[in-house]
Amino acid sequence: MKHPYLAKRHWEYEEQSLSLTNEMVKRYDDVIDLSIGDPDYPADKRIIEAMYEGGLQGYTRYTEFLGDEDLRQATIDMYKEDYGYTFDKDEILITAGGTHAMYLLMEAILDEGDEVIAIAPYYIYYQPQIELVKGKIVVYNTKPEDNFDVDVNELEKCITSRTKAIIVNSPCNPSGKVYSEENIKAILALAEKYDFLVIADDIYGALNYTDNKKPICAYEGKPGRVVTLYSYSKDYSMTGLRLGHVIAEKEMIAAMRRVNEAVAFTINSMAQRGGIAAIKNRKEIQAGLYEEYYKREMYIYERIQKMKNISCNKPEGTFYIFANIKDTGLSSMEIWDKILDDAHVLVLPGSGFGQAGEGFIRIAATVGIDTLEEAFNRMEKMDIFR
Ligand code: PLP
Repeated sequence: MKHPYLAKRHWEYEEQSLSLTNEMVKRYDDVIDLSIGDPDYPADKRIIEAMYEGGLQGYTRYTEFLGDEDLRQATIDMYKEDYGYTFDKDEILITAGGTHAMYLLMEAILDEGDEVIAIAPYYIYYQPQIELVKGKIVVYNTKPEDNFDVDVNELEKCITSRTKAIIVNSPCNPSGKVYSEENIKAILALAEKYDFLVIADDIYGALNYTDNKKPICAYEGKPGRVVTLYSYSKDYSMTGLRLGHVIAEKEMIAAMRRVNEAVAFTINSMAQRGGIAAIKNRKEIQAGLYEEYYKREMYIYERIQKMKNISCNKPEGTFYIFANIKDTGLSSMEIWDKILDDAHVLVLPGSGFGQAGEGFIRIAATVGIDTLEEAFNRMEKMDIFR
């Protein structure tokens, strides 16, 4: 979009498919929206009460630059108790969610032209997050026929003298993949060999339906080669409250804090009080979310098994199903439009998640089973799926 007052670097910017959904959802009156990862599951009342009480007690002012001290301490205690992972109060920065955490991290670690490896299909916004600070994204494409596993020999070919980090998102958006211990250890060994960081995007940590629930930081014991990004958005259904953190060695945290002082100054103080309540009640809150999303995921999985020209793996994590539609003969973008026009259901095209996602659609379990049933009743009637 050209405009005389717009910096030239923004003239050629390509819209992400996710950004187009706001308009697409308005195309018909009865659209069922299974596109953006923002489910209907409510934030727990105890979190909201803690925010309210916090506000009344005066937690309405700036917090410390690294974040509310009580929240940082509660987070330290949680990691120690749950994973045996230890870090200090100056090795964590509270952020306004995972997106903000990743941007600050990119600012802190990338010089112009430094490379970050993303494992495709990957979360759409990694690319602009890397490119906004003049880094270069290097995409490693996994293959659906390998169940989106990482082939370490192939991955090694992506490494250059400019490789600064690799992002590992497990459970993965959009594929739902949970990487095996063997995969994680092999990635960590590569990072050690070539001396780069492993960025663990742990945003779906509580929505892991496998027995392999160990977060990447737990392979290390304390901050070092692994930088952990976390968000309350999905694990606590707090997308709009914008809360997360980053855990790293204190020099990196100090750089991110410095950048953040110029970007956001500090994070919403009441949301941070809510975060303390979330941590305190995490087992109970997350058990409810887990049960609900697993039920929805299995429902979608089973409906897809009964349809033609569409298939998917059994859900391993997240609240997404990444479904293969190659047998329809249509591209991800074509089928995205067609499902909206024929069934009034809005999903996302897999190609928006990198080349490895072409031939797929992402279906988000953002509504209850009754609405999912209606969505699949409509999709099932489409010629291509009968
Ligand atoms: N990382 C992944 C893999 C995601 O799927 C998302 C959101 O969908 C984010 C990060 C950022 O989420 P938030 O900024 O709400 O924490």
